[in-house]
Amino acid sequence: MDCIFCKIVSGEIPSARVFEDDNVIAFLDIRPIAKGHTLIVPKKHLTDLRDADYETLCHLMGAVKKIAPSVMTAVGADGFNLGGNNGPASGQEVMHLHLHIIPRHFNDGLPRWPHNAYAEGEREGLAEKIRAVL
Ligand code: 5GP
Ligand code: ZN
Repeated sequence: MDCIFCKIVSGEIPSARVFEDDNVIAFLDIRPIAKGHTLIVPKKHLTDLRDADYETLCHLMGAVKKIAPSVMTAVGADGFNLGGNNGPASGQEVMHLHLHIIPRHFNDGLPRWPHNAYAEGEREGLAEKIRAVL
């Protein structure tokens, strides 16, 4: 399969690996948002979170829990963002499920998510619509 992360998993393409076990690999993003920006990738090819089985989710989050404090220590970060793009509309470029650990420093100047507002009653209606299709 012509998937860049599968090629990193197999070793066909080199990476700056920080962690690997039977289920996941973690390596530094080649175009980091901040120094230490790390990608957590399941070894099996899944397109995004919607495809992921429960075990894979546990392996991914277990790796985040293990790795994020070490990434923070290595770059002297004050916190980190955990991110995941799912689908091209979200900005996903590599169609192999992955999570981003992005180290953060106080006053690092990175933008915050914008916030929006609901019209009267809109929020409750939307919550009901989501519950109806769960
Ligand atoms: P996405 O937008 O799909 O959530 O993020 C994909 C990430 O993979 C991007 O931040 C991009 O910089 C990173 N990336 C793409 N190709 C490579 C590569 O060959 N090696 C590494 N280490 N990172 C890559
Ligand atoms: Zn893949």
